[in-house]
Amino acid sequence: MSAKTSVWLVFFCALGCLIHDADLRSIQPKASQCGYQSCHPTKPNMLNVHLVAHTHDDVGWLKTVDQYYYGSETKIQKAGVQYIIDSVVEALLRDPEKRFIYVESAFFFKWWKEQKPKVQEAVKMLVEQGRLEFIGGAWSMNDEATTHYQSVIDQFSWGLRLLNDTFGECGRPRVGWQIDPFGHSREMASMFAQMGFDGMFFGRLDYQDKDERLMTKNAEMIWHGSANLGEEADLFSGALYNNYQAPDGFCFDILCNDAPIIDGKHSPDNNVKERVDAFLAYVTEMAEHFRTPNVILTMGEDFHYQNADMWYKNLDKLIKYGNERQANGSNINLLYSTPSCYLKSLHDAGITWPTKSDDFFPYASDPHAYWTGYFTSRPTLKRFERDGNHFLQVCKQLSALAPKKPEEFDPHLTFMRETLGIMQHHDAITGTEKEKVALDYAKRMSVAFRACGATTRNALNQLTVQSKDNVKDTSAKYVFEFKTCALLNITSCPVSEANDRFALTLYNPLAHTVNEYVRIPVPYSNYRIIDNKGVTLESQAVPIPQVLIDIKHRNSTAKYEIVFLATNIPALGYRTYYVEKLDSTEGNTRSKALPKRTSSVTVIGNSHIQLGFDTNGFLSEVTADGLTRLVSQEFLFYEGAVGNNAEFLNRSSGAYIFRPNENKIHFATDQVEIEVYKGDLVHEVHQKFNDWISQVVRVYNKDSYAEFEWLVGPIPIDDGIGKEVITRFNSDIASDGIFRTDSNGREMIKRKINHRDTWSVKINEAVAGNYYPITTKIDVEDDTARMAILTDRAQGGSSLKDGSLELMVHRRLLKDDAFGVGEALNETEYGDGLIARGKHHLFFGKSTDREGVSLKGIERLTQLEKLLPTWKFFSNMEDYSADEWQTAFTNIFSGISLVLPKPVHLLTLEPWHENQLLVRFEHIMENGEDASYSQPVQFNVKNVLSAFDVEGIRETTLDGNAWLDESRRLQFAPDPEEAAFNTYATFSQPAESVHLLSAEKPMLGVKYADEALPAGQLGAESNRIRRETETRQEKKDEGRSSKSTEGPYNSFKSDSSNQEYIIELSPMEIRTFIVYLTPA
Ligand SMILES: [Zn+2]
Repeated sequence: MSAKTSVWLVFFCALGCLIHDADLRSIQPKASQCGYQSCHPTKPNMLNVHLVAHTHDDVGWLKTVDQYYYGSETKIQKAGVQYIIDSVVEALLRDPEKRFIYVESAFFFKWWKEQKPKVQEAVKMLVEQGRLEFIGGAWSMNDEATTHYQSVIDQFSWGLRLLNDTFGECGRPRVGWQIDPFGHSREMASMFAQMGFDGMFFGRLDYQDKDERLMTKNAEMIWHGSANLGEEADLFSGALYNNYQAPDGFCFDILCNDAPIIDGKHSPDNNVKERVDAFLAYVTEMAEHFRTPNVILTMGEDFHYQNADMWYKNLDKLIKYGNERQANGSNINLLYSTPSCYLKSLHDAGITWPTKSDDFFPYASDPHAYWTGYFTSRPTLKRFERDGNHFLQVCKQLSALAPKKPEEFDPHLTFMRETLGIMQHHDAITGTEKEKVALDYAKRMSVAFRACGATTRNALNQLTVQSKDNVKDTSAKYVFEFKTCALLNITSCPVSEANDRFALTLYNPLAHTVNEYVRIPVPYSNYRIIDNKGVTLESQAVPIPQVLIDIKHRNSTAKYEIVFLATNIPALGYRTYYVEKLDSTEGNTRSKALPKRTSSVTVIGNSHIQLGFDTNGFLSEVTADGLTRLVSQEFLFYEGAVGNNAEFLNRSSGAYIFRPNENKIHFATDQVEIEVYKGDLVHEVHQKFNDWISQVVRVYNKDSYAEFEWLVGPIPIDDGIGKEVITRFNSDIASDGIFRTDSNGREMIKRKINHRDTWSVKINEAVAGNYYPITTKIDVEDDTARMAILTDRAQGGSSLKDGSLELMVHRRLLKDDAFGVGEALNETEYGDGLIARGKHHLFFGKSTDREGVSLKGIERLTQLEKLLPTWKFFSNMEDYSADEWQTAFTNIFSGISLVLPKPVHLLTLEPWHENQLLVRFEHIMENGEDASYSQPVQFNVKNVLSAFDVEGIRETTLDGNAWLDESRRLQFAPDPEEAAFNTYATFSQPAESVHLLSAEKPMLGVKYADEALPAGQLGAESNRIRRETETRQEKKDEGRSSKSTEGPYNSFKSDSSNQEYIIELSPMEIRTFIVYLTPA
């Protein structure tokens, strides 16, 4: 997205953008010279200006993905990606000097598939010569606040894999390019590093931070991406000078209004001198803020280069007339470059760099614009995306585990992978797209669910129906439906509602055996649940809250949920349960309803945790680990600020920014209506706060935490006021302004109220400026007690008072915040405001010296089980009695024989290339979180994957597309510690105004390297997986040779003993392997 507005000019690319056969015939493919060696040389003793021709192509924002690709809906935005790539390729083919970078694989491969072989060959040549370079390379340029690391890794793996499959080594990006995401996470830096990237450039950071970094020459740094992993997670990162736009006056696209460079010798409009003067003055000023004699200029913007010639023609002139000045003593050298060539120049400068260990959240673009609203915007889309990731993992695993793999498995899985890749885009999961575009994302997701649903049905039928001997209807394609009930989020499921006999298959995507409390929506209260051995399980009927039943358009007959505890669900496998309705009362126990109002505290819970509710119906205390402490919970809402956005002070709260009217925070109620239900399996308190906020608080009898299932909406707006709804947990924990939030679901980062670790911040928005992205967890603690909350989707959150945690669950606003989306965040469905429902899991207990596993350890394990619980598949069982079902079918299955140690997560198991699996193992604990779980663990990969005929394994970088033992990254040296300290100490005062690039020159004593090294010394590393040219034998040989030299990070072979497959994982480590399978 862009802050700039442009008047749309006549679009005339279509005719000029075709690639003619004639152009292609003249091309002689040359030997590969991509990578750093393809960089244009820089000039020593000069300021080298790296001009990067680029386009920023949002994978959906104001228009849908396809509208952007095809260029339709021109009234909304004059943007057509197919024309961009056509036009750029043609321009590049005409002139070997020119360079272009392309970023979004989702768009590129859509274009690629439409091209004739001749065009594809020409593009391959451009890539091999480094003229067209892929940067970033993931399916989309993902958001960094609201995305989960599993999805980020997946979408990089897929984008980089297609680049690798198509272009080999030359297609592999070296540099991350996060120019538009609204703030930057530390985990993202860590992931880039682990994927083998040499560095990353980004556009958006807090304006005060940016000013200070520029003034102190600290805009480029070594970012320590992990508190656990050490140097392997360090990433060289650079903040761009001008976001990602061209300097003012030098935007030469058809979408811009700047004058071209007019060089007619006698033209009255000739502006060469004036233009070149202005440009050289700009880069001279810019260079004052950077450490080396190199600057990078982003020459492009959103959907630029639809007519590439306009840009290139003017850049050619700028370079020509700019460099002509060198004859008269100018020491400025302009060149076509790429981010990686710029990075290489920084590296070759041989200087040291500042370091950073925190992150770039929250992002503020002006004193009243904290981009913390999008942490919560579109809460139901954010949850749908998590469901999508969950089902993607199930689909991957079942695609790999199915005995027979029909042709359609691959396209189904690919469609879901690519859909989830699109969902990670910084205007998709963020909720900052137009509502129509959000609906398009949701539609894509549901098609992907259908595609993968066909795969899972096929795979589960294969595994369940081993013989057709007892099958009654042999004409049907499938014996069982294995249906997903998409509306379980509103406690509705057609299969369990319409049938008196049905089966529930719980597929467990974790490599651990799990126990799970299961809830099934049903119309009656009497059912019997039988497990695969014929044992009738204890079950409990709980009434569905009336507020849920009353939701308009909820087309369901369910009045109850049947709850049971499913135990020992096999790792990477399933267990099926038979459920039948009973006419008598012999079945499950009903929940005992307690009187609605009591004069004393209502207590629910078990021996691990108890929750007390006061006489007004609010949570009032929690007892756990022998501690009884005051803990309350309430719903409140902020009024969204409303203004005309004409100046900072008049900012409105909107899809991007959260700007509450701080004086106007309202409690939802002072009196909560409650109903209490107790049974042997679960205790529940049903709370109704007002007409549009309700909640069920429950404790299952074996859990050591409590579940808060909130239901919010439609948020009323008839008073003309937008509202931002939060849940707030208050405790007496003396947290001293400190709390912790997760980074993309992995490592926790310490936060302090009104404070940033690396600069002295002046916060003008007391609430919004202290909000952070919560992807999964937020916590507070003191010496004795600890309170943590897990979320089920990304939300904004903070701890504004000691001992308190708040999370924003839903928001509905009536004004746009003027950052481009052009719509108020006012989601509706069926004509009413959107209703959102979700869960928080509350952990409370001793912060230290806890008996058994630490609370943090339990939180980590629970976090995993809540991220990837069992997937519920429903099948009609009218044709089979329980006995017939039990004897005729395989109702339990496990895909692995060795259950992984508790702290190890099988992060990925998916079919990769032919006869290959892509497998990732992850240590889910951080150092020090638990005395025993936070230890390194060892296990045998071959035993884990015993269901497969494993021939060999070889370790790759995190993305799965380059061999780890061949991966080399550029190394950057940190400043000596003292220098870094002084740098910050000198500028402890915050910058006063926005983008204050004051003339005041910082005295840093950083010397430019006298002479830059010639480009290309390092060259491109041969770290690609060359699957097409390599024989299997070569692979084996490589494996053997590297094994003898490289210690634990090497490849393993099956002809050695199984000891060779033992791997070790340290806290927070992820290891990725290609597993070779014996061809069938
Ligand atoms: Zn964007």
